[in-house]
Amino acid sequence: MLIVFIGPPGAGKGTQSKRMLSYLQIPHLSTGDLLREAKSQDTPLGRLAAQYMDRGRLVPDPLVLDMVGECLSRPQYAQGCMFDGFPRTLQQAKSLDESLAQRGTPLSLAVEMRADENELIGRMLKRAAAEKRVDDNPETIAQRMAVYNKQTAPLLDYYQKRGILTTIDALGTPDEVFARIKAVVDAKRKAG
Ligand code: ADP
Repeated sequence: MLIVFIGPPGAGKGTQSKRMLSYLQIPHLSTGDLLREAKSQDTPLGRLAAQYMDRGRLVPDPLVLDMVGECLSRPQYAQGCMFDGFPRTLQQAKSLDESLAQRGTPLSLAVEMRADENELIGRMLKRAAAEKRVDDNPETIAQRMAVYNKQTAPLLDYYQKRGILTTIDALGTPDEVFARIKAVVDAKRKAG
């Protein structure tokens, strides 16, 4: 199974895809986590990416696509994958489709996690205190929301047209949200 999680910052994509990971036993690929790791290791990619991430802007497509391509070529990704925070632009989505078509394993499902923006901003400000993410401050959060609406939200239409989009309500406890996603995934698995 290949699943894409799409949603504004703070919607809980990371939390839910990690929970799904133990349920489905397929690996999780978070471009945000990979980029933060590169940043903390101070690699050339990390240094470059930090200039965008810390300001709430998207890391340029070629850098992200190289990083994801390298990851997907690993054997553990042969059986499936859950994408979290990727794709985030139409170019990334198209490029992902092309490489999956080459492997003969198209995307199974795109799950949109939808929630009220003000609720999400509140969540991220709380997370800022706990996790100390450099990009969880009011200015950068506003920028990330704007980037989501402008660059990532068009993907919803793209996946809708492909007939693989399902939208779930991302508000509620992590257990409630997980149950909603699990229902969508189970239905898809039954349908084959
Ligand atoms: P959130 O969804 O809360 O903003 P992420 O961890 O998914 O958090 O992403 C953090 C930052 O990493 C983004 O603001 C962006 O700068 C960068 N990033 C992550 N994934 C991508 C991607 N697919 N394309 C471009 N930039 C990305």
